[in-house]
Amino acid sequence: MKIIMLGAPGAGKGTQAKMIAEKYQIPHISTGDIFRANIKNGTELGAEAKKYMDQGLLVPDELTVRILLDRVAQEDCAGGYVLDGFPRNIPQAQVLDEALEKLGEKIDMCIDVDVPDENIVRRMSGRRACLKCGATYHLEHIPPRQEGVCDTCGSGLVLREDDKPETVQNRLKVYHEQTQPLIEFYSAKGVLKTVDGTMDVQDVFSAIVGLLG
Ligand code: ADP
Ligand code: AMP
Repeated sequence: MKIIMLGAPGAGKGTQAKMIAEKYQIPHISTGDIFRANIKNGTELGAEAKKYMDQGLLVPDELTVRILLDRVAQEDCAGGYVLDGFPRNIPQAQVLDEALEKLGEKIDMCIDVDVPDENIVRRMSGRRACLKCGATYHLEHIPPRQEGVCDTCGSGLVLREDDKPETVQNRLKVYHEQTQPLIEFYSAKGVLKTVDGTMDVQDVFSAIVGLLG
């Protein structure tokens, strides 16, 4: 099963993608997590990506597409995967389509997690992330058991640099201009499903499971 999570930054794509990955036993692939891991490890790729991420801009396609195609070619992806944060524009979606077509494969479902802009800034300013294992929390909605500490791996939690309100506005602008057109792109392919992302995490997940079966 190959699934794409669509939605504004902070809509809950990562939260739901992790739950899907666990229930259906498929890898969760987040291009944002891959970039952040590279930044943390001080790689050249991380340094290049950081220039764009800190401004709320998209990392150039040639870099992003290469990373994603390498990742989905790995053995653990043979039974499918859930993509979170990729594709983020039409050219990326076209490259993915072409790569899948060559293998006689296709995307099974694109799930749009719909959350209005007015909820997004609040979600992002309350998000706390573990840069070690990729877990995410929310100060009000999904707090960690111990303040500032990751439940999963015990590392310290941080407010991501790009979750500060000034950068979130840029990210929302980029989303509306470049990513939102993908709703029409996948709708035209007949694989788009929309869920109301303003519900509780568990209710959003139940809606998704209802769609996936
Ligand atoms: P995305 O991957 O789309 O950027 P996240 O999954 O990281 O978004 O979620 C953004 C923030 O909102 C996080 O702090 C997360 O814990 C919180 N969150 C996710 N889903 C919900 C929800 N249904 N209700 C309230 N808060 C949520
Ligand atoms: P995310 O963790 O999905 O919110 O992504 C954080 C940042 O990483 C984005 O604001 C972009 O700068 C970069 N990024 C992640 N995925 C992509 C992608 N598919 N294309 C371009 N940039 C990306």
